Amino acid sequence: MDLGIVTIGTELLLGFTVDTNSAFAGGQLAGVGVRVVRRTAVADTPHAIRSAVSEGLVRTGAVLTTGGLGPTRDDISKLVVAELFDAPLEFREEIWDHVVARFKRYGRVPSPSNRSQAEMPKGAVELRNQWGSAPGIWLEATPGLVVMLPGVPREMRNLLIHEVLPRLAERSTGSVIRSRTLRTTAIGESVLAERMGAIEQEIAPLTLAYLPDIGSVDLRLTAWDLPADEADRRLGDGLALLRARAGDHAFGEGETDLAEVVLAAARRVGATIATAESCTGGLVGGRLTAIPGSSDVVLGGIIAYADRVKERTLEVPVALLKAHGAVSEPVVRAMAEGAARRLGATLTIAVTGISGPGGGSEEKPVGTTWFATHWQGRTESVKQILFGERDEIRARAAQVALYLMWRRLLQR
Ligand code: AMP
Ligand code: MG
Repeated sequence: MDLGIVTIGTELLLGFTVDTNSAFAGGQLAGVGVRVVRRTAVADTPHAIRSAVSEGLVRTGAVLTTGGLGPTRDDISKLVVAELFDAPLEFREEIWDHVVARFKRYGRVPSPSNRSQAEMPKGAVELRNQWGSAPGIWLEATPGLVVMLPGVPREMRNLLIHEVLPRLAERSTGSVIRSRTLRTTAIGESVLAERMGAIEQEIAPLTLAYLPDIGSVDLRLTAWDLPADEADRRLGDGLALLRARAGDHAFGEGETDLAEVVLAAARRVGATIATAESCTGGLVGGRLTAIPGSSDVVLGGIIAYADRVKERTLEVPVALLKAHGAVSEPVVRAMAEGAARRLGATLTIAVTGISGPGGGSEEKPVGTTWFATHWQGRTESVKQILFGERDEIRARAAQVALYLMWRRLLQR
């Protein structure tokens, strides 16, 4: 089944509200085999709503709308759709009773304008809204199916899950649209694509999308319109193939954060972790400690931004700082070793770099970043030139630091 989404609300076009409803609905609908073919956002005007809904009906015969179901004057979606279907609004006593009861629970009485919320286009099914006062609407007649949900994200999500998806699933052919995502890091999108080769042919009919982000590239496999068990089997096989080709760069699936992977690897070998950060200013420690339960692994860190702190707290010899500068291999190694001594962790990471926008030179351009790991008495260091603006460089540096820690923990 194909469907179009129409989100209604002038605030969406002005940019005051980000349209999260469409994204949520797209994902949920895919799960029951409904393919969203187009998304449209329109203002709260009769003409805009009418044309978007009727175009959607011509295209696919099915439209889901959100927004414009409230009791205020700008909430006109229902009226417009009722006209389009030639289904006059009728007042329904049972909906009104529900609205009154709901207000009463909160010690209030509805105002006369709320009466409009008890009106339904003739022939429509009420989607009972237990999370708010505006009911959803299921209207199926000539010229097609229109499902209308309130704009408030919590109400729309609940109505979609509890009232709409079961009705759609009932009529679906048992096929699903399902995705699985492999996360990779420390490898660029184009290098990764080369490694994958002509994989699209091997995994067909699954499709593969490359989704690059800062410091990672997600590989998303999608099965379209397949029976659920076949989709799962093909996605499992496809994911194994991706994993094999991505090698060391694949660190997890779905929403997995690299910091979680580092912590798990540390736990497996009984390691503790400490950080010594200059340019990242605590981002590495922040990523690690954002994970619940990290306290059994993470001991702490030193943010050594100024040379003075590198010298006094991390015991970096002043001669090294003078001779090589703070962004250099000898200094990053000394930072890692100093932090290992001071904090007593079994694995220590140090980061020092130039995040910009100023401070770069011919020899050390903006983005130049040195990393060192100290583990089992041995220090390893590596330089990377990271690209992007300041925020991106710092975020990338934190990601590289986590990657290097992970690789060291796996070495043994
Ligand atoms: P409405 O049902 O039109 O009265 O919408 C109520 C509220 O829901 C609006 O004030 C917005 O803050 C929010 N909203 C409406 N449409 C969306 C959407 N597509 N995505 C996220 N929030 C929305
Ligand atoms: Mg509105």
